[in-house]
Amino acid sequence: MSITKALGCLIIRIEDILGSDNVYTLTGAEVLMPGGTLERRNVVVQDGAVARVEGSVGGAVGESVDLGGLILSPGFVDIHLNGGGGASFEQGTSEAIQKVIETGFQFGTTGVVAAINTAQREDRMRQMAALADYHASANDVLLGVHLEGPYYHLDQRGAHHPEWIRYPDPGEYGAWIDAYGDLIRIVTSAPELPGGMDLIRTLSKADIVPSIGHSMATDEQVDEAIEAGARMVTHIYNAQSTYTRRDDGKHLGVAEMGLMRDALTVEIIPDNRHLTPRMQQLVVKVKPHDKICITTDAIEATGQGPGTYELMGGKVWVDEEVAYREDRKRHAGSILTMDRAVRNVVAAGAEVGSALMMATEIPARTVGASTKGRIEVGADADFVVLNTSLEVVATISRGRVVYSADA
Ligand SMILES: [Zn+2]
Repeated sequence: MSITKALGCLIIRIEDILGSDNVYTLTGAEVLMPGGTLERRNVVVQDGAVARVEGSVGGAVGESVDLGGLILSPGFVDIHLNGGGGASFEQGTSEAIQKVIETGFQFGTTGVVAAINTAQREDRMRQMAALADYHASANDVLLGVHLEGPYYHLDQRGAHHPEWIRYPDPGEYGAWIDAYGDLIRIVTSAPELPGGMDLIRTLSKADIVPSIGHSMATDEQVDEAIEAGARMVTHIYNAQSTYTRRDDGKHLGVAEMGLMRDALTVEIIPDNRHLTPRMQQLVVKVKPHDKICITTDAIEATGQGPGTYELMGGKVWVDEEVAYREDRKRHAGSILTMDRAVRNVVAAGAEVGSALMMATEIPARTVGASTKGRIEVGADADFVVLNTSLEVVATISRGRVVYSADA
């Protein structure tokens, strides 16, 4: 029986089982264990959570579903996602948010930190209000918000609207934290701006991850930012300083400091354009794998094909691989999916278990999503079932099958 056909049966079986009883056991899979090893295990799912993780023999409870040697990974956790399937989080309707989340299911994503980009003050607050409403009613997949901007260096603005970029304003970010402090998981900013270090200190105190990005910071400034509480570098090698020689001597940039400093976890966009295959090889070779988060930075055009789209206050042009501003010089997000990202990182030299960990356990841990990213007792029953080519066969969210490849 072909894998697809076998999984066709699997899907029906799980749905049947869930109709009658909330307990089932997934057997015969190579399970991604915390720490990144693949081991043959039986996983008991009850009421949408992992109830037990057993050896490969015995321990089954309820109906058993044999995965026949497929890989069972925690569902992917994308901590930098803008949109997909023609919708974006910034549109601020529950239908749009739902559409982005459902599009992610096709690619194995079961946990999302919604990225919203540089905007005018009122628009930013309106977008957060919509995401907070959605999160209050359905928080299985939406883990929080990643604020990209507006406190960016103009020379590293990428596709962000220059008129909306500004210096850190304690009145403004204080209002975000007061109203949505529990929702905001990551804020990307340029620490070298006036007030930039104070922003990082304030975020850190509020238990929000301060991330360095769209920044011209020197190596000294990055170290100062780490001292202030910075813990991440956003989309490494994109919209940030690298090695330079200036009048006052030589400096490493944000990218090299991101690779070197253990205090910093780095986001990668391994779509072969934001990071070329060789840049992926570099990061995978020099950065500890438990400090790398695979992200997509994907926009609404994901899954929609080439064309022009309205985004961040302007037109964006999309080809088969990436999005640009119309001048075609600056990227404007990707159309990458998490499954393809994992395959590319494996092609760049990472072990399968390591690459999967960069797409699951590490991003979940980075944003403090304690029930996501690991297959262990008490974790959410969020899984992606993959074949040996790392293609998505099925996606399970809180114990329910939300996508199957042959459906
Ligand atoms: Zn960005």
